[in-house]
This record gives sequence, C-alpha cells and structure tokens, in this order.
Amino acid sequence: MISSTQILDVLGIGFGPANIALAIALEELAPTLTTRFMEKRSDPLWQPNMLLPGSDIQNHPLRDLVTPRNPRSRYSFTNFLYENQRLYEHLNLPLHYPLRLEYAQYVSWVARFFEDQVNYSSEAVSIELVKGGSEEGTNHYRVYSADGQVYRTRSLVLAPGRTPYIPDPFTKIIDARIQHLNNYLPALQEAIESTAGECRVAVIGGSQSAVEILLHASEHAGVKEVVGYTRNFGYRQKDTSPFSDEVYFPEFVDTFHRANPEHKSRLRRELLHTNYSASDIDVLDRLYIKRYEQYLRNEQGLEIKNCHEVTACDARTDGIEVKSRQFLEGKTSRKTFDLVILATGFLDLGSGERQEPYPPLLAALASNHDGMQIARDYRLELDGHLPTYLNGLCESSHGMGDAGSFSLLALRSKAIVESLVALLPTRVENQRHA
Ligand SMILES: Cc1cc2nc3c(=O)[nH]c(=O)nc-3n(C[C@H](O)[C@H](O)[C@H](O)COP(=O)(O)OP(=O)(O)OC[C@H]3O[C@@H](n4cnc5c(N)ncnc54)[C@H](O)[C@@H]3O)c2cc1C
Repeated sequence: MISSTQILDVLGIGFGPANIALAIALEELAPTLTTRFMEKRSDPLWQPNMLLPGSDIQNHPLRDLVTPRNPRSRYSFTNFLYENQRLYEHLNLPLHYPLRLEYAQYVSWVARFFEDQVNYSSEAVSIELVKGGSEEGTNHYRVYSADGQVYRTRSLVLAPGRTPYIPDPFTKIIDARIQHLNNYLPALQEAIESTAGECRVAVIGGSQSAVEILLHASEHAGVKEVVGYTRNFGYRQKDTSPFSDEVYFPEFVDTFHRANPEHKSRLRRELLHTNYSASDIDVLDRLYIKRYEQYLRNEQGLEIKNCHEVTACDARTDGIEVKSRQFLEGKTSRKTFDLVILATGFLDLGSGERQEPYPPLLAALASNHDGMQIARDYRLELDGHLPTYLNGLCESSHGMGDAGSFSLLALRSKAIVESLVALLPTRVENQRHA
C-alpha cells in the first residue's frame, strides 16, 4: 500500500487500455517500481457509451493488451476466454472479429487484477513540478485530483484518451442536446425520455461511429427520425488493403517517427482512411440496405444528407436547429433535432487543423514550449522536467497505428517501461539489493 506522502516511481493518469497495458508491462518487466494509476471513472470500462448491440472490434483480437509483447502472459485475450470457460464457444462464433461487448469484458477482467494499484473516481486536474531543495528533498511532480487528493511522483505516464473534436458551428454552443459520440448511449436515453419517445436525432460526420450510430438510433424504440450529415459524397469504406495495414507494424512506427514533417503529412494524407472518416463494409452494407428497405415501405425515418456542410446551429426551446448547405447545388436546409451527436473524431497533437498543441492536463508544464517534441520512447522533451510520457496520444509523431487503436498498445508499453527503468535507475537498483 502506498501512503499519500510517498513519492511514487510512476503515476499513470487514466486507466483505459493504454495504461492497463502499461500496468501489465510494469508487473512483468519492472515489478520493483512503485506504481499507481488515477482513473476518473468509478469502474474499469472500455468505451461504455458506445457499446452498441452487435458491434464488433476493429483490431485483430491477438493484438490485445499483451500478446504482441508477451504471448505467454496470463493477461491475454485467449487466456481470458480460457479462464472464463468459453474458448470453444468463442471460436465457434460466425464472426470475423469479436463483439465489442466481449472485448470490453476482457479489458475489465484484466483491469481487476490491478485493483490495488488504481484509484477510481479520481480525476487528475492539474500537475505541478516541485524542484528539489524543498522540504520534500527530491524533484517530483505533484498531481492534484478533483476530490482534493495529492499524488507525488518521479515520473508520469499520461493516457487520458484523445480530446474530442468539436467542429466549428458547434463550438459556439454549450447545450446538453449536443453531444460527442463519447456520450452517445446516455444522451440518447435522456433525449428519448424528454421527448416522450418522439426523438429526432442528427448524426454529424462520416466515421465508423457515425454509421454505427445511424444504424442503432434508427432501430431504437422512441426515436422518430434520424438524419446523417456528411460532407462526403457517401459514407466511405475503410482502406483495409493488407499493404496499407502495414501501418500497424511496429517497424512503421520507426519509419514514421524518423520521417521529416513533409513526409509525415504525406503519409498521413495517404493512410487516413485506414482508420478515419471511413467504415467497415459490414455496417455500410447494413445502412445502405436499411435505407432501401425504408424506401420500399414508403417510410422516412432515416435520411442521409450527403455533400452537406453544416453551416450553423442554434439552440432553441423546441430543439437544436441545424442549418446545412449542399455544396454541389448550393441549396440550404434547416432541421430541428432533440439530440445532435458529433461523430467527428478526436484531436491529435500539433499546430494544424484538428490538432491541439499539448494535452490540456499539461498546460501548466508545456505552455511555454514552442511545439512539443516527443521521443521514440514516447517521452516528452520538456526542459528541466522529470520523465513524462504520452501513452495513446502520439499519432502525429509516431503514426496512424500508434494512437486510437489497440494494435500497438503492448509494444508501446514495453518501450515506456524500458525507458522508465533506464531513467529511474537508482530506486530500482536499491530495491534489487535490499
Ligand atoms: C467507439 C469506439 C470504438 C473503438 N473501437 C476500437 C476497436 O475496436 N479497436 C481498436 O483498436 N480501437 C478502437 N477504438 C480506439 C480506442 O481509442 C482505443 O481502442 C482505446 O480505447 C484507447 O485506449 P486509451 O487508454 O488510450 O484511451 P481511452 O480508452 O479513452 O481511456 C482513457 C481513460 O482515461 C480516463 N481519464 C481521462 N482523463 C482523465 C483524468 N484527467 N484523470 C483520470 N482519468 C482520466 C478515462 O476515463 C478513460 O478511462 C475505439 C474508439 C471508440 C471511440
């Protein structure tokens, strides 16, 4: 047990898949380091607000929290199935990839092994660097939680997930009826209750989540109308060419990290649709057939506004009014909704469009740095600071496979642990010889 005054070796912020994979790597590769994680949720849950019936995962299940690093680990997806006595039943499923529900259960199952290292309902709100020479002796970070706790640590691993991207007309309004996909299921429930089952839903964006939400909302009791807005000609299919999917190879991370800024942007443009603004064919086909079937029945509950730019929105008592423009013919339209879901993705780090300069939690530490440099081992190069790592936020520096995906989690946690062991040697050595 760690006392509140103790200076930890490692403090992880966030206990989603990225830092769960780190907890496993720390246990297996550096068990002497004193470690703690802060998690703002009250339970270990993976993307619970998008756990839609029938949805599957988008990564090969063996690219789990540990297998690519240590296939013999007890924390693998295969062992989860085995220990829960459903290996054969799972293998017999007529599915390409596992259900998201089952993978979410796997993530929670692993997280529970680390219960004694995690403070749930503990949201990190600010971080401060304390220089040596104070009464506490050695340089360390102080991390403050929303409920007034203070954690002290010699290193930090930030894994809070990426910041939601809110597109332009919606940034001007704060209204509970406009929600990012991160809050989809509870927001839908609330909208249905407040409209006595006459709910009108808009879904903005062309992502996998947009298509899944259109399908889910249009089949949900209490939803009267669903409209999808996309700037594209149609909902696009993901680039699943095995050549493009080499983006998820560990070697690609080296290549991308070494590339100059111009080559990085070129690769990002080319490889965008391996993961973004595009969907798997199974949900695209379902949506297309659904719309056709509705046409056969002469119903109008589901509408898709393609080539439509949302130009403005207005919060009114009778709903959120969305104004859009069909860019080919210049026609404008207005519609009012009880719920607007922004399936518009997330921000990356950087200074361009859809980017933020640093994770908001690092504002006090990083705001005087002109552009953040992130080393191959995911360490932030901040002058005079302690080892500080970004886990799951490094797409602009490390490439498409290295954020927003399970694919490289296990290897990323190895790189971070090896770096920690190299940079925090004294404590490790002392404990080894104790
Ligand atoms: C709907 C959806 C489906 C997806 N499906 C797949 C898939 O099938 N396959 C795939 O490879 N990827 C998928 N992804 C991508 C997904 O981002 C990763 O799989 C994975 O969730 C990333 O893990 P993470 O730990 O980096 O981030 P997250 O899963 O977002 O976890 C971050 C954690 O940090 C906590 N946190 C945040 N801020 C704080 C704070 N200040 N203090 C304390 N705790 C904090 C959060 O509560 C959360 O638990 C999906 C993403 C979404 C949105």
